[in-house]
Amino acid sequence: MSWTVERIREEMNKFVDVFNKTFECEVGYTSLPIYIDKRLVRCDGYLKHRKVCNITVGMMFTFGESFLVNNTDSIIIEKIRHEYLHYLMILKYNKHIGHNDIFEMHCRKLGIVCT
Ligand SMILES: [Zn+2]
Repeated sequence: MSWTVERIREEMNKFVDVFNKTFECEVGYTSLPIYIDKRLVRCDGYLKHRKVCNITVGMMFTFGESFLVNNTDSIIIEKIRHEYLHYLMILKYNKHIGHNDIFEMHCRKLGIVCT
């Protein structure tokens, strides 16, 4: 089955359930736009974010089409979770914390790659 925006959204929602169970919290599902970029080659995917009136907000998830076509589902799902974790960390800390110790700790507990 190929990867579509709807399928990525579904994976994100599943991840929210896992996250809530793991950390005993009640994070909600996101309606942030998801974009599959046909031309993205410099990286596999990323979360676009910006600062608005001192509040950092996630803007959009982008995934490269070639990444989605050329990788296994498990690698793709891990990448989706990784980017979504960035989004949740922005919500929690009001800044992009990158791959710092806190991010790493969350990755370890969730069993996903940190980089
Ligand atoms: Zn990252």
